[in-house]
Amino acid sequence: MLPDYAPTPLTDFSRPEHAAAMEAALAAVRARLGGTWPLWLDGERVTTDATRPSVDPADHATVVGHAAEAGPEHLERAFVAAARAFPAWRRTPLEVRARYLLRCAARMRERRLELAAWMVFEVSKSWVEADADVAEAIDFLEFYAREAIRLGGPQPLAPYPGEELELRYLPLGTAAVIPPWNFPLAITVGMTAAALVAGNPTILKPAHQAPVIAGLFAELLHECGLPPGVLGFVTGDGAALGSAMVEDPRTRIVAFTGSKAVGLGIARKAGEVRPGQRGLKRAILELGGKDATVIDDDCDLEAAIAGAVAAAFGFQGQKCSAGSRLIVHTRVYDEVVAEVARRADALTVGHPRDRAHFMGAMIDDKALAKTLGYVEAGRGEGRLVAGGGRGPDAGWFVRPTVFADVESRARLMQEEIFGPVLAIGRARDWEHALAWANDTEYGLTGAVFSRNRDHLEQARHELHVGNLYLNRKCTGALVGVHPFGGFDMSGTDSKAGGRDYLLLFTQAKSIAEKL
Ligand code: NAD
Repeated sequence: MLPDYAPTPLTDFSRPEHAAAMEAALAAVRARLGGTWPLWLDGERVTTDATRPSVDPADHATVVGHAAEAGPEHLERAFVAAARAFPAWRRTPLEVRARYLLRCAARMRERRLELAAWMVFEVSKSWVEADADVAEAIDFLEFYAREAIRLGGPQPLAPYPGEELELRYLPLGTAAVIPPWNFPLAITVGMTAAALVAGNPTILKPAHQAPVIAGLFAELLHECGLPPGVLGFVTGDGAALGSAMVEDPRTRIVAFTGSKAVGLGIARKAGEVRPGQRGLKRAILELGGKDATVIDDDCDLEAAIAGAVAAAFGFQGQKCSAGSRLIVHTRVYDEVVAEVARRADALTVGHPRDRAHFMGAMIDDKALAKTLGYVEAGRGEGRLVAGGGRGPDAGWFVRPTVFADVESRARLMQEEIFGPVLAIGRARDWEHALAWANDTEYGLTGAVFSRNRDHLEQARHELHVGNLYLNRKCTGALVGVHPFGGFDMSGTDSKAGGRDYLLLFTQAKSIAEKL
């Protein structure tokens, strides 16, 4: 009997014992930087001659780890092992599969700060952001374990005289799991755990920027006794491996979280039927966002400004849910712009191993160049009121940057930058602000700060996003509490961390026996 699911509380680093434990975890991880990380094929660690370095974005002279470089022969081995493992894994009862997740969650709780410390170095998360990422990973494991048990139990059906009825949730076959680097543990664990617990052998290919933290997860799952072949783990060239996984006729499910551009390519490729393919491929695609915070004229301004700044600059704005557009009612506009700019300027930027730093570095040189390109473009589209340049030289840092007086159709308001750049626009009135928030091809998250009941109700109906937050910031969804996924170009709205999610990895079989 399992206790009810509840989200994992975050670590309170203001308590000296927790801060000391995190310092110790950082020191221990630092001593292990630069190691070599294997593939996992058919239950075995596999090393390769060629490796690819994963570097510390805040200090790019430091190699966090050397990840094995998988080639086509490794991927082939993963597919063959998955097919071999499938018959036994699909017959393993859901509650037994769930136990692997529960055991993995327990191991993660024991190593919680160590896992967070790896993320501080590998993707430049602050302590708080890294701790939240681990907590979310644990939550996915706990939540999907319970969901699997629910799906494995009797399902409600209308009784029918003379027939014995049953509905079973069956797996589909090999799943290709392709996560992004920005929640390198949480999203990786969530997609993988869902695919596995539903009974699908899974090949996991992490983003090339974050192979080490994913490697730790693959190792943990194997320590938990996962049968050989049920999880294949390949690292290397993300685009080459990822597209080979998507195109392979043996793949039945693609679970992808990443950019719109790559996701659209996967949607197209997954629709092509190849020789030897049995069944349609399912593509679960969670893509980008250009999320808005709306500040109405009568709201709690302190809460709104704090929420807008946290949502724009937390983890350097590198969240799909980041509030990169701020739409402000004209009556409070000047006050909000001045205060947001002041607070953005006050944010600390530097290596996140130092707890004092709110923001770390951008993930890589490409992200840095892209963000600085938007900062330059922004100078022609708005009024720079904060930041606008690079941070410390050792890493790929960008100062928190704010442009005011940006129009809705400007690139800064339309394109996902995925960096610490906030565009603020002046709305004539509430109706204008609402229309502006919807003036995007994306539809992931949105926040409205208002005390006007009619406006809040209107936003519930008309703000077209998968995750709407009223009088709170638009980042920080919790598993089981805020099922997560977006509309329109933000993807297939899979609602990760919700009751609908596991169904995407199953096919239901209805069975009736005449009595
Ligand atoms: P990305 O699209 O560059 O890469 C995502 C994954 O796809 C990586 O594992 C990468 O190696 C792989 N990949 C790259 N090219 C591929 C190809 N041709 N075929 C198959 N796989 C390929 O995205 P990213 O930079 O890792 O992540 C940032 C993006 O992810 C942002 O757009 C962000 O909004 C989005 N994101 C969305 C959500 C969500 O839930 N909607 C959550 C987190 C991040």
